[in-house]
Amino acid sequence: MHPLPGPHPYTLTPTQMAPSPPAGGPWTHQPPPAPRSSRAARHEPSQPSPTARQGADRQAGITRAPTTLTRHQSSRIDPEQIPRPTGPSDLPVEGGKRYETDKYTLPPPATSSYTVIDRGSASCRFIRLTTNQIPALSQTAATSHIPIGCVVQPFAELAPTEEQIPVVDFSASSSEGLGNNTTTSSGAPGPVRCPRCRAYVNPFMASSAGGRECSCNLCGHVFQLPQWYSCVLDEFGRRRDIMERPELLKGTVDFVAPAEYSDGIPQPPAFCFVIETTFMSAVTGFLHQAIESVKCALEHMPAVTSEVAVVTFDHCLTFYPLDRLFTAKNQMMCVGDVEDDPFFPAPTDVLCVNVQENHDKIVEVLDSVLERAQDSKASHSAGNAALKAAVDLLAARGGGVVMQYYCSVPDVGVGALNKREDFKHIHAFSSSGSSSAVSGATSAPTSGSAPPPSSAAGTSTEHGSQKLDKVMFQPQQAAFYDKLAKHCYETGVGVEVFCQPPSNAFIDLASLGHIAHVTGGHIHLYTQTSTDRDPERIKRDVIRTLAPSGFNCIFKLRTSKGLAVSKFYGPWSAKHGLDASSFAIPRLHPDTAVAFLLKHDDRLDQQKHVYLQCACLYTNMKGQRMIRVITLATPTTSSLSSVFRYTEIDCLINVLTRMSAHGVMHGVGHYREDLLNMCVDMLLSYRLHCATSTTAGQLILPESLKLLPLYVMALFKHAAFRGKSEVRADERVYFLMRFERLPVSMSSLSLYPALRCLHRSLTNDRKLEAAIKASSLLPPTIASTGEKVSSDGVYLMDDDEHFLIYVGCDVRPSYVTHFLGLEVEEPVYWSVGVDGEASPLYSNGMAAAGGKDCIERRIVQHLRALKGSHPHVPVRIIPARSGEEGRFSCRLVEDPVSGEASYVDFLCQIHRLVNAKLD
Ligand SMILES: [Zn+2]
Repeated sequence: MHPLPGPHPYTLTPTQMAPSPPAGGPWTHQPPPAPRSSRAARHEPSQPSPTARQGADRQAGITRAPTTLTRHQSSRIDPEQIPRPTGPSDLPVEGGKRYETDKYTLPPPATSSYTVIDRGSASCRFIRLTTNQIPALSQTAATSHIPIGCVVQPFAELAPTEEQIPVVDFSASSSEGLGNNTTTSSGAPGPVRCPRCRAYVNPFMASSAGGRECSCNLCGHVFQLPQWYSCVLDEFGRRRDIMERPELLKGTVDFVAPAEYSDGIPQPPAFCFVIETTFMSAVTGFLHQAIESVKCALEHMPAVTSEVAVVTFDHCLTFYPLDRLFTAKNQMMCVGDVEDDPFFPAPTDVLCVNVQENHDKIVEVLDSVLERAQDSKASHSAGNAALKAAVDLLAARGGGVVMQYYCSVPDVGVGALNKREDFKHIHAFSSSGSSSAVSGATSAPTSGSAPPPSSAAGTSTEHGSQKLDKVMFQPQQAAFYDKLAKHCYETGVGVEVFCQPPSNAFIDLASLGHIAHVTGGHIHLYTQTSTDRDPERIKRDVIRTLAPSGFNCIFKLRTSKGLAVSKFYGPWSAKHGLDASSFAIPRLHPDTAVAFLLKHDDRLDQQKHVYLQCACLYTNMKGQRMIRVITLATPTTSSLSSVFRYTEIDCLINVLTRMSAHGVMHGVGHYREDLLNMCVDMLLSYRLHCATSTTAGQLILPESLKLLPLYVMALFKHAAFRGKSEVRADERVYFLMRFERLPVSMSSLSLYPALRCLHRSLTNDRKLEAAIKASSLLPPTIASTGEKVSSDGVYLMDDDEHFLIYVGCDVRPSYVTHFLGLEVEEPVYWSVGVDGEASPLYSNGMAAAGGKDCIERRIVQHLRALKGSHPHVPVRIIPARSGEEGRFSCRLVEDPVSGEASYVDFLCQIHRLVNAKLD
């Protein structure tokens, strides 16, 4: 169930006309106020700089009354009463609340801390549905306007309190009397499968004919079990061996794949670090951080069999024999021909070696790279030639991950990129923020539909910008990247990209990130200035890359008879572009999720439950070929109200964000109109068919969708979609690519950051402070608006990628010195460290003050602990009126941000659109 309103009163108190909504019932709000003539100005430009003013005030002994970041807007709607998410404030006991998968009707919120007990249907860590009761009829689905779909995260990490996924090995079964449907050519039996639809055996396949037959829960086919798998039934009709059959008890199982499921002998993945050693890389400190991150990775290599290679590049490529038997110092092999087909100049076993056995030699080589690069004068980069050679090296070795470090745009050799001089032009015009969609006369929201009628000028601007967006988001050197990606797919090589351009430089992430994006990798962009970077972050990102992933994956989603997969949303395309239910990918990381939309191809009203089964054939980190099977059972319903009631907003918004990101990246559809229309249609459908009482002046928000307008509005304000000139092109690409692979647990915070007040003079609550120290409470979240941000307060914003700590301009410097250990006038990273660890160092070498008892540090540690195994979230301290204040204030998404309406105004806008359709 979505968390019920916490400490905030979430009923909309009617200030003038309408009666109060029933408790827990639909959210309603008042008629829209008269449109305001101007948007709230964010800052008073005439005010003096904070530091100057603060200093002057202090000298003069003036104490001023605190102000807020944005001024309060009077409105007929009480902003305190409108729905917004509440972050956790009670810190859960270890593992959080327990959920059994056969008991819950709605999975626990994706952002909460929970423990799932697998009782036959798959855990919500692996698969989530937009609605947890599937409409039995396609008409019901169409009427609801809720896209029916699922988000799958096949290798999601489990909580430490959860049971490991059982491994089932049928090759150990008796090979006598093998049934023909599961006998493999090698003689070892594979997992039992339905001969008609190829579904894997699972807890919902029913035994019959005394245990000799089985009926498939997906297609209904009754088939004979192979003799070695048949088993007599007990008096309840259950197999007598059920307790020894995890595949008949658990929603998620790993089967050991029979040999014929793989071409060749699978290998444990190897890692090839490809590092830029140009002058720019050395002088900005990127090289140093890259080398340090590789050293750190060596300590965290996943298995004893792990192998690594190191390649460095400037205008030519350098390879290193890493075997400890090569005792001579500074041995290396340079490849100057980077034009046509750069090659790796030694056998793979010389360049790619076992980490455990050669650890010291690898460190010695890394140190020598750093030492030599200090005198580097090289200004050109053959980065893509190095990438190609590294892919070839790992391909020859049997697959793995290329960890590619870029500091500049590759400009020589194969795959060299043009400096996209036209980029600034594109950038300036790429405003997708046209307001044409808010006309109220928009058409039906099918994606890819004809553009809705709107003003001609608005449409042409938008179409123009869309075309330019499309150019901006497509990689250069498409032929080079296509060929390379094909090679990666064939040989099981994934790419991970770490980009750290010199401050504010354009690095063409659309091109450099492309290969990682389509091979199952992640893109890491570090944009801070060279003197102020978080050394911890790149290290943790590299370590996170090593988390157990699936390699050489072939994925298929099967659905119950009557349902079909209509569309796939992920960073790469579905297989051959023909079948939306399957894809192949070199690597699937635990933090990568994909989404599928479902459609009816028959009535489901004869079925009480429908089933989804994901099967992913993959190679694990030990080099074993496995099949992960995830089976989900979910009820059907003929009631439209139930479809609404069991909708999960976090999953829905994840799907909607993907659809929008996909639209922008590929220049298809009109994400803004589509999204707004979908939102309006869902609310309208609920109002027409489900709401018990309606007054014309009320906007009715179903409980499950009460945050939908908020998230849609927040999406329009997100840097990925804003598209105004203040968002850099690389940053937009970065976020769009991120949204295309983001798990459900990370999407809602990314759109609507959680804001908490840290300042003791504001919380002024000794009890709360003691509870935080005792690890049982967090400060409550407050609305993400400047109206709540007081100049004498300190605030922590969590958008799941960064913690931003904002220090108001009237905060006493001693307060900040207390927890940070130094006076801060410019933005700086704060190294908080892991709970229980000794005081870590800042990037500037100073130890953190405050110690273990420092309450601010405790809060950050609690929040990190709540994120479990999520990627590292760095902490950035942002003093008021510093260069980065805008970074904080543009994430106060309830305020007007670059031409987008405030939350209250947006709700009024939605209300008008619903009413327009109602008439
Ligand atoms: Zn079947």
